[in-house]
Formats: sequence, structure tokens, C-alpha cells
Amino acid sequence: MSRKLENTGFTCLFCGAVIHPLTNGCYRNHCPKCLYSLHIDNKPGDRANDCFGLMKPVNVRYHGKKGWQIIHRCDLCGIIKMNRTAPDDIDTVILMMEQVAFNGGFNENDKNY
Ligand SMILES: [Zn+2]
Ligand SMILES: [Zn+2]
Repeated sequence: MSRKLENTGFTCLFCGAVIHPLTNGCYRNHCPKCLYSLHIDNKPGDRANDCFGLMKPVNVRYHGKKGWQIIHRCDLCGIIKMNRTAPDDIDTVILMMEQVAFNGGFNENDKNY
């Protein structure tokens, strides 16, 4: 595995989808199909973290300036991170919002971010 800063595609470790890199200059760090991510960055795109835990999407929220954000929690170390969405995530984000609503909302115990 090289640590070069480049915007490459990857295969989702959760659902197996092959993810193509974004062409708008943003780093894509999560799967547009299931929204899972990997704990490999300290800052978006730096690939400087060695945890390699699966980051589970636990909630979504709308930020006035940044748009839709996915809140990820690492299965291994438990860190919570916000991630901006890519344009082709929106369908999955809406599905996730419905799921979160269906499940009675976000777990209060997780609000340590
Ligand atoms: Zn996936
Ligand atoms: Zn982690």
C-alpha cells in the first residue's frame, strides 16, 4: 500500500462495491452505496491513520455551509467523524435518514463528538 496523496478509487470493505474516484477534486472516503468508510485519515485524504477500522454511518445531518454530512463511528476505536457527502451519495443519505427516523433517532449515548 502506498501512502501517496492521490485520489484513487477503492473497493468497499463492507458491501464490496467498486468505488470510482471523484472528478471534482474532492477526496471520496466513503462508499456511496452503503456510506461505510474506513478509518485511514486524520484529515480528509491524508491516509495518515493506521487504525483501518470500518467506519459505520450512524447519522446524517444538514450543515448550513457544508451541506449534508455523514457522521461515522469507527468500529475499532470508536472515534466519531463528520464527513461531507459527494453528489452521488444523496440517494443513500436520504435512505439513511429514513432509517434513522424509523429506528427512533440517534442514540443519545453516542453524542460524544
Ligand atoms: Zn459499500
Ligand atoms: Zn478507528
